Amino acid sequence: MSTRSPITSLNITFLGTASAQPSSTRNHSSLALRLSGDVWLFDCGEATQHQIQRSSVKMGKIEKIFITHTHGDHIFGLLPLLASCLNGAGGITEGMEDPRMHVDTNAPPLEIYGPLGTRAYVRNGLGYTHSLLSSPYVVHELRQLSDPQSGDFTSLPPLPQELHGRNILQVDGIWSDIFQDSIVSVSAAPILHSVPCVGYVITEAPVPGKIDPKKYIADIKRTKAPMTVMRQLQQGETVTLSDGTVLHGPPRRRGRKLVILGDTYDPSPIIPLAEDAHLLIHEATNAHLPGIDENTKEIDTYETVEARAKSRGHSTPQMAGAFAKRIQAQSLVLNHFSSRYPGDESEEAKRIMGGIAQLAAAEYGNSVICARDFMSLDIPHSKDGNE
Ligand SMILES: [Zn+2]
Ligand SMILES: [Zn+2]
Repeated sequence: MSTRSPITSLNITFLGTASAQPSSTRNHSSLALRLSGDVWLFDCGEATQHQIQRSSVKMGKIEKIFITHTHGDHIFGLLPLLASCLNGAGGITEGMEDPRMHVDTNAPPLEIYGPLGTRAYVRNGLGYTHSLLSSPYVVHELRQLSDPQSGDFTSLPPLPQELHGRNILQVDGIWSDIFQDSIVSVSAAPILHSVPCVGYVITEAPVPGKIDPKKYIADIKRTKAPMTVMRQLQQGETVTLSDGTVLHGPPRRRGRKLVILGDTYDPSPIIPLAEDAHLLIHEATNAHLPGIDENTKEIDTYETVEARAKSRGHSTPQMAGAFAKRIQAQSLVLNHFSSRYPGDESEEAKRIMGGIAQLAAAEYGNSVICARDFMSLDIPHSKDGNE
């Protein structure tokens, strides 16, 4: 059982928001979800480690890494990050004892989740670069129905620092509760892209409701009950006072739900998990922006741009907006932009990203945020308080 404390702050920091090629203003895909102090990374494109060093995200706090798919722009940064996080080194000369040869496999491993091939990629990459790590890691794979349902997908045996990972099989089209503790759980579902790809849904367990102390204070004072009773009520408990009076704490509220998608031209298989999300993060690789983007080709129409995006496994802002509406997401953030679209504070960037946000918002019916590298968002509970 986890000893994770209730989440006091939930924050997302975008570490990379580019598709295909990075630019001077956007790095390859990665984002950090901070659950109070714990860090979970989603995707780990090239140079994610550098982006972390330039951000307020603490490398040493990385507990889990979730990979959406094994395209290089989402995973090329994983090996160097592991080497840094887990005190990696290239070994020493023969006859000398390197303490890293003795991995403490009782230490909690850094957990990696991803589709078929993630484990083989990490094992082969670390193995063939002779990387020694002093702490353990484990790779759990989300196997699609068409994947081999067992085995490691590589003939290379596990490294001393690799613990035995699970092959998690799909049931009813989803991977339910691939991780769960008393505070938060993660489920996943396949989403459609040019290669096997996964979307993740992070759900916070129900949290204490809003308490109105005035409702209880007279009874507590009259019976001289200790003030710790108020704390129990705050947790939603029922308390019987010395004179038989029964007090009920406020009912627990629904926790926050985040949907973090990888590359996709159709994420509909994740709908059953994703409905009513507090936050949806959806890619918007290509947009048609006549009059806004001066590189717009004369012959292009929205239809040709959408067809081209889909043929490459990607989405337009309109597709992202429509999906956000379909799952009734409370907020929508777009990422994974073409390297044509700058991600800085320039007038051009503001104009283009404003145009992209508007296209998505027109379908969604709500305002939309376009992510930039190092953008940081706090995710509050719903305002209505009783969800
Ligand atoms: Zn990508
Ligand atoms: Zn991709």
